[in-house]
Amino acid sequence: MRELAYHRATDAAEAVALVTANPSARFLAGGSNLVDHLKLGITEPELLVDVSRLPLDRVEDLPDGGLRIGANVRNSDLGAHPRVRTDYPVVAEAVLAGASPQIRHQATTGGNLLQRTRCVYFQDASTPCNKREPGSGCSAIGGYGRYNAVLGASPDCVTTHPSDLAVALAAVDARVVVLGTDGERRLPMSELHRLPGDEPQRDTTLAHGELITAVELPADPVVQVSGYHKARDRASFAFALVSVAACLDLDGDTVRDVRIAWGGVAHKPWRATRAEEALRGTRFSEDAARDAATLELEAAETDEETAYKVPMVRNATALVLGRLARATTEGAA
Ligand SMILES: Cc1cc2nc3c(=O)[nH]c(=O)nc-3n(C[C@H](O)[C@H](O)[C@H](O)COP(=O)(O)OP(=O)(O)OC[C@H]3O[C@@H](n4cnc5c(N)ncnc54)[C@H](O)[C@@H]3O)c2cc1C
Ligand code: SF4
Repeated sequence: MRELAYHRATDAAEAVALVTANPSARFLAGGSNLVDHLKLGITEPELLVDVSRLPLDRVEDLPDGGLRIGANVRNSDLGAHPRVRTDYPVVAEAVLAGASPQIRHQATTGGNLLQRTRCVYFQDASTPCNKREPGSGCSAIGGYGRYNAVLGASPDCVTTHPSDLAVALAAVDARVVVLGTDGERRLPMSELHRLPGDEPQRDTTLAHGELITAVELPADPVVQVSGYHKARDRASFAFALVSVAACLDLDGDTVRDVRIAWGGVAHKPWRATRAEEALRGTRFSEDAARDAATLELEAAETDEETAYKVPMVRNATALVLGRLARATTEGAA
């Protein structure tokens, strides 16, 4: 049996210092992902630093009208928060589309963003996996590939990022607040996760020991008309095959502004900036949304198992933007 030390942190700086000092140490929040990995033997830390009692469990108004979500805010509390539901509906819808009520009560905002891939080979310690063991190979190439990436994959890793919340946060241009040994820094949500390249073992751009303390949602009218669509095998308790987070600001029927992020297609939430550019300033229609998604998907690389994702994400984009356009028209009527 391996020895595993446990320390309950009472101070964020202490937690950062302890994890930074030990390359195998890990932060423990709700434990709904990390504890599974301990049981599966796919991570073997010497030290767990429990950050779940740190006072990072508040949702607070920011002076500029935005919202600050503490890293320990539970997924269920985030999805039920009145301001999140009213001003950032895409965030509430995405977080409530994830997991089950029981898991959402346990899961935290920070842990949700840093949960690891659901690739079946990553989770099976008996198979080669470059993310788990760099240089060992990628069993998903030529293996079970239905959940694999179609954008931004590399020959070293073809998996996707599983968080629903991360996709919504990418669409609303959230900022991630991070504490390291040199103090606090903020980074755009789109820069938190990374494409696999030749280092698929690195999911994010965070340094070892950096602690997410909060996520900040900007005050921005475009995010008020927003929504999430998740295509999955079952109506609940299933990860996304593909998902779409979108925000739409129409002036009459002209697109003043639009944000689109996709889940289930890449190693990180995929911000569809090419599609957004194609739609801005044009007359909105679901066909135009489909055409814009097609432009973004020109870079897609598929095989027999993943080919379904391209039409699925294209149609899901048109579907969610169409819903937002109708909501705007009905709201204005
Ligand atoms: C059966 C099942 C179904 C699920 N379905 C979905 C789904 O459909 N959609 C979805 O999005 N998720 C789903 N999840 C994943 C679930 O949402 C995550 O397990 C959960 O959000 C992780 O949060 P946690 O607080 O429990 O994290 P933990 O398990 O405690 O930690 C996860 C990782 O984050 C790190 N970490 C935690 N907090 C911080 C922090 N503040 N700063 C830095 N690092 C930190 C930990 O070190 C660890 O590496 C599912 C999980 C299960 C078990
Ligand atoms: S796709 Fe990535 S996570 Fe899955 S087996 Fe290959 S290297 Fe591992």
